[in-house]
Amino acid sequence: MRNRHLPPGFGEQTSSKNNSLLRTSGPDEKQLNGTLALGVRSETGSRNDSFGNGTSSKTNSLPHTSGPDEKQLNGALVPGFRNESGSRNDSSQSARMSVDKLLGGLLAPGFDERSCSSRYQSFLFRKTSLYKPSSYLLSKLRRYEDLHKRCGPHTKSYSKAFKRLKSSHGSGGGCKYLVWVPVNGLGNRMMSLVSTFLYALLTDRVLLVELGNDMLRLFCEPFPNSSWILPKHFPIEGQFHSADLRHDRGYGNLLKSGIINESTESLPSYVFLNLDHTKYDLDRLSFHCNQNPSLLRKVPWLFLISDQYFVPSFFLTSTFKQEMQRLFPEKETVFHHLARYLFHPSNEVWGLITRFYQAYLADADERIGLQIRIFNTTTSPVEIVLDQLLKCTQKENLLPRVDTKHPLATSTKTRRSKVILVTSLYTTFYENISNTYWAKPTVTGEVIRVYQPSHEESQRFGDNMHNIKAWAEMYLLSLSDVLVTSAWSTFGYVAQGLGGRKPWILYKADKGHTPNPSCVRDLSMEPCFHFPRNHDCKTKTKINVGSLFPYLKYCEDLNWGVKLVSEHQKL
Ligand code: GDP
Repeated sequence: MRNRHLPPGFGEQTSSKNNSLLRTSGPDEKQLNGTLALGVRSETGSRNDSFGNGTSSKTNSLPHTSGPDEKQLNGALVPGFRNESGSRNDSSQSARMSVDKLLGGLLAPGFDERSCSSRYQSFLFRKTSLYKPSSYLLSKLRRYEDLHKRCGPHTKSYSKAFKRLKSSHGSGGGCKYLVWVPVNGLGNRMMSLVSTFLYALLTDRVLLVELGNDMLRLFCEPFPNSSWILPKHFPIEGQFHSADLRHDRGYGNLLKSGIINESTESLPSYVFLNLDHTKYDLDRLSFHCNQNPSLLRKVPWLFLISDQYFVPSFFLTSTFKQEMQRLFPEKETVFHHLARYLFHPSNEVWGLITRFYQAYLADADERIGLQIRIFNTTTSPVEIVLDQLLKCTQKENLLPRVDTKHPLATSTKTRRSKVILVTSLYTTFYENISNTYWAKPTVTGEVIRVYQPSHEESQRFGDNMHNIKAWAEMYLLSLSDVLVTSAWSTFGYVAQGLGGRKPWILYKADKGHTPNPSCVRDLSMEPCFHFPRNHDCKTKTKINVGSLFPYLKYCEDLNWGVKLVSEHQKL
């Protein structure tokens, strides 16, 4: 029986229920003596996903003594690392190593390598980025690192500022802080964290982060000789998660009620910026219209809550526009550079990433990442999304067709292998695709392998391990050569931005219909800012924010959102 989920050319399916082989540990290439079991390798059992449901930090952190050092990693010595150049010991190789290891100068040298292996090993897993950070960005980062070291937690400057927080008024000199407070899913958080860091860079503030209980063990410290973690038992942390308290102390509210204005002599010691996409517009309006920026600059402690990638708004205000252009002459590189600078997987997460990569992805000729995010299974049923995914990958030639007429591969042109990494909360997509390539050979003769690291079934909050898996999967996706993502999903945005990939985006299925066309090539690797202002700040009249500048366009996946694009296409 023809599988109703498959478009023509995908062939008949063996039902997943009868395919017990697929869901258990299968024979490997050697055991099968090169026949490769109809081109499909099995994933580990569906109940225990590849990351293990109970993976604990204790059992999975990389032992500090056993990490590979640079010499071992040079060239092809460690299986699974990319080896792009030929000879191992020539001087150009070591020059590339030292430039790439620091990601073109983004990273400062001198961190302890063993406590955060990913920081200086990530370049071994990626092709060299096509994008070089500007020298101005590099000097800004180095200056920021000095500031953070001088003002970070446990310094004299921090103690002074901490005392001022407790006093009711805060103006005066000294270090100023920007505290990031998390809200929403991990992808959303990473969007807002990058934006917040950029705001700190632009305003000479020190970024501190409140990681809560479910973001511990995800990232390494990004700044040398200091910490970005807000010290525990912070006096006003009770206000972080109370919308009412935050709004009372919100920037917009304080301006509106006249508690602060340009002639106010004593400013409050702290102010909240509520920039998340729900409920409270006043702060967003005041912030994005850059009202009284000099006043805001004087407040020593700012607390910022957002789930948005609000970076494009800095190009929309005269205060920051020039600086943004100097920092990022290539506009679409903001997230790519800042995320690679900030987000280094902890050793625990790096263990998950590298083990998975080496076991399943490393030796393929091409890695294809499929990120399938369904926000609402009623309006976007899984079967519809599957149909859409298959139509997209066929039409765009991202996955080879299967040969429905011959049971064995007829083409001997190539024995190339492609590996498909599926990330999703559900198993349906993985099962269907892997069954397809088990049931029939590809018309190209290519060997296809399919893997899915986990299937969490639902989004969870307050669960550290759940976020660890999500982070590991975003990172693995970012190592793909070809990427298909889902509309509106910040999970996908992280992968495309980190990896420097311009993905094909699956349109959001709505009202139970397969969208036509099913997908579209993204305009750039940058994330989409879902809620930009759409009016002129002075005249309050509506504007087309996506047509103000050639480098700012309405997003393909969300027609009222905007994103930065390049004026010189490279991808
Ligand atoms: P968005 O909602 O797609 O914009 O992405 P977010 O990352 O902000 O929130 C979705 C959350 O759901 C993730 O952070 C994960 O916790 C979970 N999730 C969604 N899709 C996946 C997936 O493919 N793999 C894993 N491990 N978790 C996922």
